Amino acid sequence: MTDHSPNDRLRLLDGFRRRLELDNGMGVEYLSLGKEEAKRLGEWIESARPPAAPPKTARPRPSAKPVPVPGGRRSASPAPAPAMRRPAPAEKWTGFSLVPFVEPVDRPDRRAELAELEKQAHGCEDCRLCEKRTNVAWGEGDLAAKVMFVGEAPGRDEDEQGRPFVGKSGRLLTDIIEKGMRIERRSVYIANVVKCRPPGNREPREDEIAACRKYLDRQIAVVGPKVLVAVGGVAGCALLGLPQKSSGLRGNWREYAGIPLRVIYHPSYLLRQRAYENDRTEADRVTWEDVKEVMRRAGRDG
Ligand code: SF4
Repeated sequence: MTDHSPNDRLRLLDGFRRRLELDNGMGVEYLSLGKEEAKRLGEWIESARPPAAPPKTARPRPSAKPVPVPGGRRSASPAPAPAMRRPAPAEKWTGFSLVPFVEPVDRPDRRAELAELEKQAHGCEDCRLCEKRTNVAWGEGDLAAKVMFVGEAPGRDEDEQGRPFVGKSGRLLTDIIEKGMRIERRSVYIANVVKCRPPGNREPREDEIAACRKYLDRQIAVVGPKVLVAVGGVAGCALLGLPQKSSGLRGNWREYAGIPLRVIYHPSYLLRQRAYENDRTEADRVTWEDVKEVMRRAGRDG
């Protein structure tokens, strides 16, 4: 094995970390690291860092001008040099930790308004989707989230649990948020365009979307995210007020009521593509590009 100096080791490891973190498709998802492993990798890289050199003591420099002394005579000794400022300690890399996007903030007024709306939705019969629902999948997350995800409709698991994105697609969306964006799921807000499950997982119809729109619009207004992410074309069309099946929505920034909006592929599409190709696909790659854009727009580098 090549005998690297501590500096070489550190450079190699830092390069290795950057490549894993930034260049590989879905980012740290490729690492499949648990929190403990990530911590150990961080500590290992830190241990390779050479000890910081002791700060150099300031040597007095001869003063350009002699120091005047009382009585008009000039002192032969130079004035003491100002103390040198120590360089700030290097920022320590702490490994792949899950960092909350924002600290959860208790906002009783927001909580009360959404709780009231949620109560209404649980008894809502404004469209035919109420007939077959088991539960209303209202929405969940931080009411002060910077990023809000909006999907199209609950599926079977969501209908059973009354929560958005908890099935297979939901687990992939959670991975995108937690392993790709490196923020906790509870730090974003997640909702659907319609709150009740369409029978047989069909797409929601335009009249159903229109009937349920009042809830989604209020959720977005109350949360006030910095960035909206439409998960799938149906959600994108609904938020942008476009006819369903409008194409070419992803890959560019759009706007919903002044909030930047990014349309990403639905996780169920990513899973179908992976099953077809038996590997990660181009759809994964462009989704990772979209997610990085979202992170930049929301105020953090992806
Ligand atoms: S989908 Fe929305 S509008 Fe339709 S019944 Fe459910 S809560 Fe009401």
